[in-house]
Amino acid sequence: MTFTVAIIGRPNVGKSTLFNRLVGKKLALVDDQPGVTRDRREGQARLGDLDFTVIDTAGLEEADPASLAGRMRAQTEEALASADAIVFVVDARAGITPHDRQFADLVRRAAKPVILLANKAESRAGILQTYEAFGLGLGDPIPFSAEHGEGLSELYDALREAL
Ligand code: GDP
Ligand code: MG
Repeated sequence: MTFTVAIIGRPNVGKSTLFNRLVGKKLALVDDQPGVTRDRREGQARLGDLDFTVIDTAGLEEADPASLAGRMRAQTEEALASADAIVFVVDARAGITPHDRQFADLVRRAAKPVILLANKAESRAGILQTYEAFGLGLGDPIPFSAEHGEGLSELYDALREAL
C-alpha cells in the first residue's frame, strides 16, 4: 500500500523546496519567480521510516491566460483528489493572504487529512504570523523551514497520524 501526499499552497510559499527536500533530489524547479512550477511533479519521498509518493503542484492564479489558470486549478484539484493526505503550506513571513484563503477553501473541500506548515519560520522568524495561520481553520500550524530542514520531526509525527 503506497500513500500519496499532495503539497498545496499559493505560489512562492516553498512547496517545491519542500518537495525537493522530501524526495532528496532537485526534481522540482525552485525559483524566486512566484509559481514557476507549471507542471505537476511526483516523486518518492522518504521521511524517517515513512515512504510515500509526494506531488508538487503549481499555483493557480499566476497565469494571465484564463486557460492556463484553469489548467493550474485543475491540476491542484487533481492532486487533491489523488492524495491520501494534504500538506498545506503558507509563508510565515508574509502572513496569510487572500490567495492562501482561496487555496485553503479548495483544501477544506477535499475533506482529507491536512497538515498545515508555516514555512520560512527558521530561527523563529515569522513565528507571530504562524499564529495567524490558526485562522485558516485547518488545525494547528507547524512552524517549519523547508530550506533549513526545521520542523521535519513534527511533520513526520503529523504524517504518521494522517496516513
Ligand atoms: P513554490 O512556488 O511554492 O514552489 O516555492 P519555491 O519552493 O519555489 O520557493 C519560493 C522561494 O522561497 C524561493 O526563493 C525559496 O528559496 C524560498 N524558500 C523556500 N523555503 C524557504 C524557507 O524555509 N525559508 C526561507 N527563508 N525561504 C524559503
Ligand atoms: Mg514550485
